[in-house]
Amino acid sequence: MKPRQVATGLAVLAVATAPMVLGEYQLSLLTYVGLSAIVALGLVLLTGKAGLSSFGQAAFVGIGAYVSAIATLRAGLSPWLTMPMALLATGCCAWVGALVMVRLSGHYLSLATIAFGTAMFFLFGGLDITGGQSGLSGLPPLMLFGFAFTRAMPNYAFVWLVVLGLIWALGNLLDSRIGRAIRALRDEAAMAEAMGVDIAAAKSAVFILSCVLAGFVGWFYAYFQRFVNPSPFSLAQGIEYLFMAVLGGANLLWGAVVGAGLVTLLKPLLQARLPELFGMSGNFESVVFGGVVILLFQFASAGLLPRLQSALGWSAIAAHAIDPAEPLAKRAVFLADGPALEVVGARKAFGGVIANVDVGLAVRSGEIVALIGPNGAGKSTFFDLVTGVTAADAGDFMLSGASIRGCSGCEIARRGVGRSFQHVRLIGDMSVIENVALGAHLRGRSGMLVAMLRLNRREEAGLLAEALRQLRRVGLDGLAWSEAGSLALGQQRIVEIARALAGDPRVLLLDEPAAGLRHQEKQILAGFLRELRAEGLAILLVEHDMDFVMGLADRVVVMEFGRVIAAGTPAQVQNDAQVQEAYLGSVA
Ligand code: ADP
Ligand code: MG
Repeated sequence: MKPRQVATGLAVLAVATAPMVLGEYQLSLLTYVGLSAIVALGLVLLTGKAGLSSFGQAAFVGIGAYVSAIATLRAGLSPWLTMPMALLATGCCAWVGALVMVRLSGHYLSLATIAFGTAMFFLFGGLDITGGQSGLSGLPPLMLFGFAFTRAMPNYAFVWLVVLGLIWALGNLLDSRIGRAIRALRDEAAMAEAMGVDIAAAKSAVFILSCVLAGFVGWFYAYFQRFVNPSPFSLAQGIEYLFMAVLGGANLLWGAVVGAGLVTLLKPLLQARLPELFGMSGNFESVVFGGVVILLFQFASAGLLPRLQSALGWSAIAAHAIDPAEPLAKRAVFLADGPALEVVGARKAFGGVIANVDVGLAVRSGEIVALIGPNGAGKSTFFDLVTGVTAADAGDFMLSGASIRGCSGCEIARRGVGRSFQHVRLIGDMSVIENVALGAHLRGRSGMLVAMLRLNRREEAGLLAEALRQLRRVGLDGLAWSEAGSLALGQQRIVEIARALAGDPRVLLLDEPAAGLRHQEKQILAGFLRELRAEGLAILLVEHDMDFVMGLADRVVVMEFGRVIAAGTPAQVQNDAQVQEAYLGSVA
């Protein structure tokens, strides 16, 4: 057994034995810890994984609570019937919010959630139907098989069963095709899009899921407290939820539990002791929490639990065996007559810098074309235009004769374009094999719910087996379970090639794949690219090493100052006077 499993087992054991040793008050307190942990679990996904900070989660708790309370008090619905209503209501509100959210990022998103949290708080306190500031009271407790949840124990058991179930389900989710996409959103969204991830849909899905979890907490809260008023759904509470996630470790599911536990248990303690200590009344606990935030960002910015894990030397990656799986279906081959990729008149200006002017080229299936030119010539920009990372100002872009002009990056990936990046874009704290599996995103189907319930194991095995197969092809299968960020830069570039190949592309764009490789490694790479060419792949590559390029490419296109200045066979290009002057001058 690994230490991680032992720790998880001990935690579960502690949850299970707590009712035997603790009294009513402590169990109630732990029920609140569980409730906060559920909201914080949503924030681990949303903030820690997807990089979207929300200060407004308390408002979603409020929506769940008020919808449940109103449905029970006005329509006499039983709590078990109001639960789906509460989840649906928060889900719908989150869905509307997501339409706005996906257009915002960074500070704007945070500010929007603050505005939402503030607005909802005043709405809860100002409407007749929500009972104004005094709220709604007289709610019944939860009932199960005629047994009322009036004491602490059943509430505790129910909430903590949900917490543990969620940790299991969300762990499954993160360990899946959708989960890998979610884990790419925070730092590498543009890369994920080039792998075929629909960024807006993924962000929205995470947001809705985290809000539905908050809505669930609101539903339970209504029947646990048996009254609902606005104060627990304030902006301050929203900030506190985020604080819990960040304190415990926003990148770890158990971090949510640790954070929720510390804040919920320490708060009443500090509230009681600090005024005694200072000899005057006041909310000193806020001062303490503020100080803790500052210390945290100084000494354990990832949160307490990740800090503890690294102190204990536990790797964040759990290596595991890959189940045998059938090979994934491959896409139809592009017809050999006519170019696989053809670009005519591509143009892109960044303000005053014209990065591409009237750039055109074509690559056939089974051909390697090299795109060369001095730094700043516009080669990487051209790659970004083809793959939809940046929108072109003008130009026709065609894949096997069909236009891809204006298509999103993920649609272009879906149609068979794979790429690597000049500045390596791997998810550093994810294993190499998972990084490669991200490239196969479009070769899986299963959605969030299936992944959470672990019904996607066959598909997962297929995707991971494919990733391993590609790693074996590039000779890095021995590093499959290493952290991608720990590899040498040259190896990381090769991992990027494996990731692109995992998507089963017809056109492969490689931006300086041989940079940082030693001579012999370059030879191996060249041999591998020849193999891919023989399999019918259309390869366009940017490379500065002229020996490498001239020995490998069928044709060479030379760019300078955003324009194509020459194109032809390696021999033709090498003898071109303009090229010699512009680029190869020193070599000639
Ligand atoms: P290469 O890959 O050939 O070295 P690039 O395509 O990276 O060249 O850059 C071409 C030119 O476009 C450079 O002058 C660069 O500074 C500019 N450029 C590239 N991307 C951007 C951007 N996002 N914003 C502004 N200028 C850019
Ligand atoms: Mg470049």
